[in-house]
Amino acid sequence: MKRERLDKVLANMGLGTRKEVKQLVKQGLVEVDGSVATDPGMHVIPEEQEITVEGEPLNYKRWLYIMLNKPPGVVSATEDNLHETVVDLLPYEWGHKVHPVGRLDIDTEGLLLLTNDGQLSHNLLSPKKKVEKEYFARIQGRVTDQHVEAFARGVELEDFTTLPAKLEILSSGDVSEVRVTIMEGKFHQVKRMFAAFGLQVVYLQRVRMGPLHLDTTLLPGEFRELSEEELEQLR
Ligand code: URA
Repeated sequence: MKRERLDKVLANMGLGTRKEVKQLVKQGLVEVDGSVATDPGMHVIPEEQEITVEGEPLNYKRWLYIMLNKPPGVVSATEDNLHETVVDLLPYEWGHKVHPVGRLDIDTEGLLLLTNDGQLSHNLLSPKKKVEKEYFARIQGRVTDQHVEAFARGVELEDFTTLPAKLEILSSGDVSEVRVTIMEGKFHQVKRMFAAFGLQVVYLQRVRMGPLHLDTTLLPGEFRELSEEELEQLR
């Protein structure tokens, strides 16, 4: 376990700037393992030691795994000059630590995992692992069995041919509803796959990434930590 400066831990938990949290310590408001801390620079192991601020225990977590139901209009990044980002939707003590695992377009909704576990993130994104991503989509135009067959063969795009993809038609009409499962995560991939047949995606929602399903009780913009069981399945 990593030893860290007490003031850094407190600031990372969103209790104030480094200067402000030093004051908390100087005022005798911070206790470590039942003793009042006097040195803001003391080293602590936050996962193992009991740290309280004004008597309230600090709920410290080294590793964060957060499922977000991404709403439209926010970008899948940690910083952006123009738009709100997915990390802006989280409380500070989480938001400044995590990064999104992969990207959804600004207008795409649904399952986005955010974590500070670089290894897990790498495993989920590695092309070698061929992690499935499943989407619900509304398509302007009629989707037919020919599209299903073409997706199953792999769709030729300008720069590459996709791996075989699963397309399931839920309803077909002027606007069709489908489920599509792909194994890569290239830029605008689903939109480009339909565009290759002159079809436009008008709504896109990710519902699954590998074993992880979007929790349908989360409204767009809502988030929660993964359960132990979900985490087990991802590892
Ligand atoms: N494919 C797309 O075209 N957009 C997304 O956001 C995700 C997959």
